[in-house]
Amino acid sequence: MNNQDRTEGVCSNCGKPAKWKVGEYRFAECGLKNVYLLGIETIRCPHCKNVDPVIPSMNQLMQVLAIAVACKPYTLRGDEIRFLRKYLKMTGDQLASYLGTDKSTISKWENDEQAHGDKSDRLIRALALMLGEGLSAHVERVAKTFPQIKETPKEIEYRIDTESQTCEYA
Ligand SMILES: [Zn+2]
Repeated sequence: MNNQDRTEGVCSNCGKPAKWKVGEYRFAECGLKNVYLLGIETIRCPHCKNVDPVIPSMNQLMQVLAIAVACKPYTLRGDEIRFLRKYLKMTGDQLASYLGTDKSTISKWENDEQAHGDKSDRLIRALALMLGEGLSAHVERVAKTFPQIKETPKEIEYRIDTESQTCEYA
C-alpha cells in the first residue's frame, strides 16, 4: 500500500495503524443507546476492530443532543431523564430537591421502575433548558413544542448530522 498518507490513523486501543473513514457512529458514550452521529470521521482499526470517532466539539454535540432530548415528542424514558440530569451536572439528590421529590424516586424513574408523570416530564425538560450549559437561549422554542408531546414513553433514535449540527428523530 502506497497511498496511506492522509487515510492513516492510529488505533487508540491497540496502537496499530488504522484507517480514517467518514460514516455513521453509534454514540454510546453519551449514555443513550440510540444516538447516531452521521457524516463523522472515524478511525477504524482492522486489527482489533476498534472504532474511534473524531469529534471536533464535544460540548456543541452534547448541547445539540440535550435540546433534541428536551424536544422529544414522546414522554422521556429513564435513560433520557438520567441524560438530562447529567447534562445539568446534578446528583440525584440535587435534582430531587428541584422537583420536590427524593433521590430514590429519581432513581426509580431513571431505571424505568416507576412512571414519572407528565408534569415532572415537562419540569425536567424545562430545568435542563433553564440551567443546562448553553441551553437557555432555546427555552422559548422548545417550550412551545411541549403541547405536542405524546404521553407514551416511546424509544426513538436520535440521528445527529455532525456537519449541520441538527438532530432528527427516527
Ligand atoms: Zn486496534
